[in-house]
Amino acid sequence: MKDAQYSVLRKEQFDGFISRLSKLQRVVAPVARGYNNYSFEEVSSGNGISLKYIPTILPPKKYFMPQRETLLEFDTGRGLNSEAVVECEKMTIFGIHTCDLAGIQCLNMVFTERPRDYNYLMHKRKINIIGLECNEYCDEYASCALVNASTPSGGYDLFFTDLGDRFIVHINTQIGENIIESTKFFESAGKSDLEDLTELRAGKRTLFTKEVPVEPRYIPELFDRSYNSKVWDELGERCLACGNCTLVCPTCYCFDIKDEMDLGLKSGRRNRIWDSCQLESFARVAGGENFRKERSLRQKHRYYRKFRYPVEKFSRFFCTGCGRCSRTCMAGIKLKDTLNLLIEEFEETVSTLMEGNY
Ligand code: SF4
Ligand code: SF4
Repeated sequence: MKDAQYSVLRKEQFDGFISRLSKLQRVVAPVARGYNNYSFEEVSSGNGISLKYIPTILPPKKYFMPQRETLLEFDTGRGLNSEAVVECEKMTIFGIHTCDLAGIQCLNMVFTERPRDYNYLMHKRKINIIGLECNEYCDEYASCALVNASTPSGGYDLFFTDLGDRFIVHINTQIGENIIESTKFFESAGKSDLEDLTELRAGKRTLFTKEVPVEPRYIPELFDRSYNSKVWDELGERCLACGNCTLVCPTCYCFDIKDEMDLGLKSGRRNRIWDSCQLESFARVAGGENFRKERSLRQKHRYYRKFRYPVEKFSRFFCTGCGRCSRTCMAGIKLKDTLNLLIEEFEETVSTLMEGNY
């Protein structure tokens, strides 16, 4: 396959494409759920799919790492008998925005580290990914341009860009090629399709600007200087410790393991359940000690897990700028506000970090 291979799908063929694909395998896509709320759900036609949507309530990580997943079944009545459980269904997720593609790339890095997480990897192997470009800025909570997640950078099988009367589709993998061939709705892309794509991306560069006045490469330094900032105390006073900001985050992956016994107390299962560093119980250890008891410490930890520690370990931010944490927070804690406060607090020392002053 050539490096950059494109096809075109006419808008009037979209419904037929999704219908045919859903007959081959389970398809999930963003659908509207109440006012300005969206959710990835199973679809059987293109009609109900929201082609323009702000980030879904939960990111597509729910398919790669379900909220509750059985990892192991055991039966002590038959000796130390235990069996690993890896249950994944083949499926295609249609319509993943670039911020969520970046989120999946982050999770891939975490779960392919040794020891590898075979449950996650099996989900990943069975899920086909079709991305969908955001031509417009989502809302005031988004900061995808700041973290370089507003344009596609891989991590998909096919990637759709809306060109008005048609989609131009980048084919990135053999799986993508197979989807194109098996559904039979696509045409080859011509020169004018590629020119329209180039024009659209150029327009986006002016529309999607850096949302916080700091050069991304200086963000780790900003955090190095902010460890003892009073901003963390202020966030700690407001935070309700509900954990929502982490549960909706496409890059948060912390989990708890809980054994569940059957009534006979001999057999049962070991489940993995999402957890959150914002809950007081998260950092409680044997003896009742808690090394992040204060909410301010937990808030600080959340931000450092996005903008500082992963840069050290994975050479990238673990924030994709989706804005979900800010949209969902009942206490009105907003990620961009926090970054702005940190910048303001160190205004004098960080003047060199401001755009244009370096
Ligand atoms: S969503 Fe808001 S209130 Fe809830 S834990 Fe996160 S920052 Fe605190
Ligand atoms: S920290 Fe907030 S904006 Fe960043 S990826 Fe997580 S939910 Fe999205």
